[in-house]
Amino acid sequence: VIPLEEALAELLAACPVLPVEHLDLRSALGCVAAKDLVSAHDVPPFACSAVDGYALRAADVAHADAGRPVSLAVLGSVPAGRTASGPLTAGATWKVMTGAPVPDGADTVVMVESSSASLDHPAASAGDQVLIFAAAAAGTAVRSAGSNVAAGDVLVSEGTTLGPAHLAVLASAGIRAVEVHPKPQVGVLVTGDELVTEDRELQPGEIYESNGAMVMALLTESSFEPRWLGVARDQPDTLADTLLAAAQECDVIVTTGGVSMGDADPVKAALGRLGRLHAMQVSIRPAKPFAYGLLDGPGRPVPVLGLPGNPVSSLVSFELLARPVLRSMAGHVELHRPDVLAVTDAPLAATGTDGRTTYLRVRGRFGTDGRWHVLPVSGQDSHQLAATADANGLAELAPHSRIEAGGEVRVRSLRWDH
Ligand code: AMP
Ligand code: MG
Repeated sequence: VIPLEEALAELLAACPVLPVEHLDLRSALGCVAAKDLVSAHDVPPFACSAVDGYALRAADVAHADAGRPVSLAVLGSVPAGRTASGPLTAGATWKVMTGAPVPDGADTVVMVESSSASLDHPAASAGDQVLIFAAAAAGTAVRSAGSNVAAGDVLVSEGTTLGPAHLAVLASAGIRAVEVHPKPQVGVLVTGDELVTEDRELQPGEIYESNGAMVMALLTESSFEPRWLGVARDQPDTLADTLLAAAQECDVIVTTGGVSMGDADPVKAALGRLGRLHAMQVSIRPAKPFAYGLLDGPGRPVPVLGLPGNPVSSLVSFELLARPVLRSMAGHVELHRPDVLAVTDAPLAATGTDGRTTYLRVRGRFGTDGRWHVLPVSGQDSHQLAATADANGLAELAPHSRIEAGGEVRVRSLRWDH
């Protein structure tokens, strides 16, 4: 039996980061940048107007106010995407739309609301006059070239998980494709002779299969790309063939069931027959058994991560072991969800006498004191997924420990959106 940290360290060392790929920005959401991405351009590329208004010289309107407007000669109108046909001259103005280049000679833009322009008299054509009712300091409403991004700036640094705005920042600098660690394609295979996936009545001894939906969803939720491989029966030879075939098509395979000490634990047996079995007993409750092995994929090793079959154990094992490994393979720097030091509103006690760390499923919320408060969910057995479904954290209890109501407990969050 080994501590969780040791088990995780072994897995992380065994499962290599996926090779870098060149992906179109549209496919790169959630991927990790494999290098610093530097801008070759200024953004905006030219000084442009922040408002719809009149580009002018601040000096020409220095004394303007509502009672003493300044009259300027309109030279014309510049929409976004065009440029003024000539420079600004003294006592004159170019009408400019948001995003239009500020004409040479202008140092400020007064917004249209501070002018006499109206629907009846838009004051947009050469020969029009416009009254300006407000002074403006030089630079007002002018977005200078490079004021968002300067050429040479790092747009996104190595290790950044690309979010929607990162993708747009890259696009704004003219970048169309990026070097990223791709998201792992994760095959999901559940095992068990008792499992039924069809829409039919159960025969004696059968149960409806449920880990598949959960593991597929856990993968999707964490931004991996799940691929359903179906139910494997408890026959090690067939299972070994299924795993070998899947290794040709997936970056990694997650299985559930068949890794404990039973007579017919087929994932262990299958990996054993392939000569690739690493079985672990992890010092946590639930989810003590875990098995993994590296198969030969096309050009690289394909890890098989064998989660235990009890539904709550599958969930906890995914969160504490598989998820960090998958994140590491995907190039993430931060492997874990945030931990919180929470207040427990009920007594919590480690279970069992064999010295394992207990992860009690808890439901947390912010209290009026601004702190995170947790309560254990009603059923803590490893088959009681119905109770666990409402949990949003795992409260960590050292072996044999007990925490009274009001005491502090370390909670590993499962998710933050409820
Ligand atoms: P195992 O680890 O294969 O011995 O399974 C432990 C327990 O989890 C048994 O009660 C199984 O019936 C149950 N179990 C295993 N796989 C699944 C699954 N995919 N869906 C629902 N229950 C499962
Ligand atoms: Mg089984």
